[in-house]
Amino acid sequence: MLDQSVQQVKGVGERLASYLNDLSIYTIRDLLFYFPFRYDEFEVKPLTELVHKETATLEGKVATQPSLAYYGKKKSRLTFTMQVGEFAVKVVMFNRAFLKKSLEMDDTVTVTGKWDMHRLQLTATHLKKGEAKSDAPIQPVYSVSEHVKLSTLKKVMREAIEEFGDHVDEVLPESYLDMYKLPQRHRAMRDMHFPESRILLKHARRRFTYEELLLFQLRMQLLRKRYKEATEGNALHYDNGVLTEFVASLPFSLTEAQKRSLAEILKDMKQPHRMNRLLQGDVGSGKTVVAAISMYGAVTAGKQAALMVPTEILAEQHASSLQQLFGGRLNVRLLTGSVKGNRRREIIEEIETGTIDILIGTHALIQEDVRFSKLGFVVIDEQHRFGVEQRRTLRDKGMKPDVLFMTATPIPRTLAITAFGDMDVSSIDEMPSGRKEVETYWVKGKMTERVLGFIRKQVQQGGQAYVICPLIEESDKLDIQNAVELYEQLREVYEPEVTVGLMHGRLSNEEKEGIMTEFAENRTQILVSTTVVEVGVDVPNASVMVIYDADRFGLSQLHQLRGRVGRGERQSYCILLAEPKGDTGKERMRIMTETTDGFKLSEEDLKIRGPGDFFGRKQSGLPEFKVADMVHDYRALETARKDAAEIIDSGWLEEKEEFRSLRNMLRHDLENIGEVLD
Ligand code: ADP
Ligand code: MG
Repeated sequence: MLDQSVQQVKGVGERLASYLNDLSIYTIRDLLFYFPFRYDEFEVKPLTELVHKETATLEGKVATQPSLAYYGKKKSRLTFTMQVGEFAVKVVMFNRAFLKKSLEMDDTVTVTGKWDMHRLQLTATHLKKGEAKSDAPIQPVYSVSEHVKLSTLKKVMREAIEEFGDHVDEVLPESYLDMYKLPQRHRAMRDMHFPESRILLKHARRRFTYEELLLFQLRMQLLRKRYKEATEGNALHYDNGVLTEFVASLPFSLTEAQKRSLAEILKDMKQPHRMNRLLQGDVGSGKTVVAAISMYGAVTAGKQAALMVPTEILAEQHASSLQQLFGGRLNVRLLTGSVKGNRRREIIEEIETGTIDILIGTHALIQEDVRFSKLGFVVIDEQHRFGVEQRRTLRDKGMKPDVLFMTATPIPRTLAITAFGDMDVSSIDEMPSGRKEVETYWVKGKMTERVLGFIRKQVQQGGQAYVICPLIEESDKLDIQNAVELYEQLREVYEPEVTVGLMHGRLSNEEKEGIMTEFAENRTQILVSTTVVEVGVDVPNASVMVIYDADRFGLSQLHQLRGRVGRGERQSYCILLAEPKGDTGKERMRIMTETTDGFKLSEEDLKIRGPGDFFGRKQSGLPEFKVADMVHDYRALETARKDAAEIIDSGWLEEKEEFRSLRNMLRHDLENIGEVLD
C-alpha cells in the first residue's frame, strides 16, 4: 500500500510528483517518513528573548495605519507599526494586500515571521487578529525546493497522513515498546509532522531515534556475524606457556587494561574466524607491547606476523624496540622503502621461506613483491591513516590474516560503535603506574620569552624539548620556511651552549633518521619541527613540548603532540602558545589544559567539531540518520547496541512472531548492503 507512487495521494499530480521525486520522495512511504528538519513554535516570547533572523511570534496593537505598496505584477507590500509593550516594531508582509482593509488602529494582532533584531522588524508570514492562543500549534518546517512550497508540502502531508497514516505498520516488538514506553509507529509518525505538544514530539523523536539505532546495530552485528562465519579456518593455536613466560620476563607487569585487551585479542585468535579488532589507547598506554605479545602468539602458532606503520621513522623505532623486547627469541626484520639492493633481496627471500617471524614496515610491506609464506597476523598502527584500503590489499593478495588495528587517537565511544560497528574494539584506558601526568599550560604570545627561558632551564637540568611550529595550510613551502626561521631564531637564542636541531617533511629519510638519532642521543637538546614528529616518536628524555600557534591545530593532533613528552622519568610540560580569535580555539586550549585523558578529549572534540568532521569528510563512512544524532543520543545508542546483541544471540529474530517485521526489514537491508565488509 505505502509503496505506491506518491501520486496516489490526493492533490498530487504528475507534475508535483516529479518535483517530489527531486526530494527523493517517490512513494507514499517516502512522503510519510519525510520528517521536518525543525519546528516553528508560535509561542509569544518577550522581545529580549528573540533570536536575530529566527522565527518569532509577537502579540501587540496596530499603531499606525497599514500602508500598501504595489510593485511588479501583482506584488505588494503591507507595512505597519505594531506596539509591543514599550517597543514599536515594524511589521512587513508581502502579497497580503487584502489584509489592509481588515486592520484598524488599536486592533490586537498576533504576527509570526522572521525577526530582525537590528531594525526591530518582523517580516511576517502569519497574521491573526486577536490575542495569541496559548496552545498555538507547533508547525513543521521541511526542507523544500524551488518547485515545492512549504505550504504545499504541508497540505500534501496532511492528506497523506489522513488517508494512509493507519497503514504504517509497527516494526519494533511490542515488548520493547512497553519497556521503553515508546509510542506506536503510526502515532509517532503523525507526531513527527504535526505534534500537538512538545512532549508528544519528544516521544516521537525518542521512538524513531531508537528505531534507527536499533536497526543500525542489528544490521552491523548481523554483518559482523556473517563475516565471521564466512571466514572459517583461521584458528591460531598459540602456545600459552611460551607467552606466559614471556610476559613474566618483561621488566614491568601489565596493567589491568592491557591484560584485558590482550585476553580479548588472544580469544579472537583462537576462534576459527578472522579477527577484525581495533585496539585503542592513549599514547604511552602500552598498546605496542600488547600487539607484540599477540604477534609472538601468532609466531608460536606457526605463523608469520607483520606490523605496518605510517612512517619510516616509526617503522625503524618499532623495529629496534621490538628487537630489544624479544631479545633474540624471534627473527624481527625491518622493510621500508630505504631498504634496498642485496639487503632487500635477502629479506624478501627470508619472508618467502618463512625464516622471518615478524616483519615491520610501512605499507610497502603488503603492497609490493612481498610474498609471505605463512602470514597469519597483521597489526596496523595508527589505523585512521590506513583502513579500508589496506584491508582490501590484503584480501587481493589472497591473504586472510587476523588483523589488529591500533590507534592512539581514541575514538569517542559513540563513533567507535557506529563507524567501526563492524569491528570489535578493545580499549586500554589506563596508564602504566608511575607515569607523571604532563602539565599543560596555555600562554599568550607575549610570554614567549619566558617560555624560552623555561626551556633553557629544563635543558640545564638534563631534559630536552620539542618546539613545534604550525602547519601552514596548503603550503608545504611556507611551512618549511616557517620552521627554518624559527630554527634560526632559536639557534641565536641558545647556541652554542645548547644545540638546536631542525626537522621537517622535506628532508630525505636518511636526513630525518640522522636528526632523530641525534635528538634521541641528546646530542641536540632542542628539536624544532613541523608536525612530522606527531606520530609515535619515542624519546623518553624529552620533557618539554612547546607548540606555536597551538590554536591552529585540532584537539587530537595537539594531544598526539603532547604525547611525545612524558614518556620517561621526568616531569614533563606542554606549553601551548596561542591567541585564539574564536570561541572554539579558546575552548580547545581550555580542554587541553584540563585533561590528559585521550578518551575524554576525543569526546570533547566530537562535540566541538561534530561527527562529520571528525574523521575528515569523505573518509568517515558514518551512517546518516534521519532522526538520531550521534553526539547527543549516545545513551540510546548504547541501549540499542545491547538490545541488538540480545535479539541476535537469543535467536528471537529468527523465531519469534513479534520480530517478524524487523526480520523482513533487515532481510531487505542486508540484501542491499551486500559485501561491504571485505
Ligand atoms: P603505545 O604504543 O600505546 O604508545 P607503548 O607500548 O609504546 O605505548 O609503551 C610506552 C612505553 O611504556 C614503552 O616504553 C613501554 O615499554 C612502556 N610500558 C608499556 N606497558 C607498561 C606497563 N604495564 N608498565 C610500565 N611500562 C610499560
Ligand atoms: Mg605506539
